Amino acid sequence: HQDEDKLTEYMDELEFLAFTAGATVQKRFTQKLTQPDSKTFIGSGKAQEIKEYVKENEIGTVIFDDELSPSQLKNLEREMEVKILDRTNLILDIFAQRAQTSYARTQVELAQYQYLLPRLTRMWTHLERQKGGIGMRGPGETEIETDRRIIRDRISLLKDKLKTIDRQMATQRNNRGKVVRAALVGYTNVGKSTLMNALSKSEVFAENKLFATLDTTVRKVVIGNLPFLLTDTVGFIRKLPTQLVESFKSTLDEVREADLLIHVADISHESFEDQVESVNQTLMEINAHQKPMIMIFNKIDDFSYDKKDEDDLTPSTKKNISLEEWKKTWMGKSKYPTVFISALTKENFPEMKKMIYDEVMKIHISRFPYND
Ligand code: GDP
Repeated sequence: HQDEDKLTEYMDELEFLAFTAGATVQKRFTQKLTQPDSKTFIGSGKAQEIKEYVKENEIGTVIFDDELSPSQLKNLEREMEVKILDRTNLILDIFAQRAQTSYARTQVELAQYQYLLPRLTRMWTHLERQKGGIGMRGPGETEIETDRRIIRDRISLLKDKLKTIDRQMATQRNNRGKVVRAALVGYTNVGKSTLMNALSKSEVFAENKLFATLDTTVRKVVIGNLPFLLTDTVGFIRKLPTQLVESFKSTLDEVREADLLIHVADISHESFEDQVESVNQTLMEINAHQKPMIMIFNKIDDFSYDKKDEDDLTPSTKKNISLEEWKKTWMGKSKYPTVFISALTKENFPEMKKMIYDEVMKIHISRFPYND
C-alpha cells in the first residue's frame, strides 16, 4: 500500500471484518514492498517477526488483507506455523455464518468450494484443525485426491441448484408486475437496513457489523399514497472475493432490474468517498450505472464528532470541513438528486421522502401515462 492514511483505513476495515467474524485482533503488522513476494507475499524478515510474535503471544490466526495465492498460503503456513487466513477466506466465513435463506447458503457454499479447490494441499490441515474456528472447515490432507473429485461434483451440483433457484427468482420478479422497484445500494454498514426499517416500518436486522444483510429483502413502501417496492441488497465491499461476485449474481440482479437506485453513503466514515467510488464501480460492472439514482448521505448526526473521543467535538473527517462546506463540493453538485439525512434521528426525512416520491412518480407516470 502506498498511502499511510489508506493503509490505516484498510487495516481498520480488515479488523472490523475480523471482529464481525468473531475474532479479536491483537496486533497489526504492515510492510512496504514495491510488490508482494511471489512465494510468501511478505518478506522473510517480516515473516520471521510475525512468527516470533505469534509464538510468544499464543496467537491462533494470522489474517492477510489481500487474497493470497494457494502457494503463498502454503509457504506462509509452513514458515510461520500458524493458521493463515486471507481477506477472501475471512469474507467467505462471514457470509457462511450469516447466510439465512437456502439460496444464500448455496451461494456461499459454492463460493467456498471454489476457493478451496486450488488450495486443497494446505498445511494447517494437520495443525490443530480439531479446534475448529474461522476458516477451519475443509477436508484433511490424506484424502485430497478423492476430495478434489467430490468437490468438483459438489460444485456442479450447487451450480445446477442455483440455476433452478435463479429461474424461480426471475419468475418471482416478473410476477411483481409493474410496481416501481427501488433498490438500496451502498457500501456495507452505511445504514441501508436502518433506512429500510425506517421507511417500511418493518424490522430488518441492522447492527454495527459488516454484512448484516446477506439475503435480499423486499418490502412494500408507501409514500404519499404511492406504493413501490424497496429492496435491500447485500453490502458492497472493496475487493469482494471474485467467487462471491459470481455467485451473488442474483442479488445483483435485483439491482440490475430495479427502476431506481437509492445510493446510501455513510458521511461519518472517513473514507466514504472511496466507498461511494467502489459502489459506483460495481454498478458499472453490472451495467446498472445509467439508471435513475438518488444519493443519500446518511449519518449526519455522527458527522463532525471524533468517534475516538466522545468529548472532542472537532471535525474528524480527513479534510476537516463542515457539512455545509461538504455540500458545496461534488456531493452537492451531483447530477443526481441528493439529500443529507440521519436514518437514526430521522433528520431531513421529509425532504428525503419527497425526493423519493418525485423519482418514483416520474417512473410511475412513464409507465401509466393515461392514469388519472
Ligand atoms: P447496512 O449494512 O448498510 O445495512 O447498515 P445498517 O443499517 O446495518 O447500519 C450499520 C450501523 O450504522 C448500525 O449500527 C446502525 O445503527 C448505524 N446507523 C445507521 N444509520 C445511522 C445514522 O443515521 N446515524 C448513526 N449515528 N448511525 C447509524
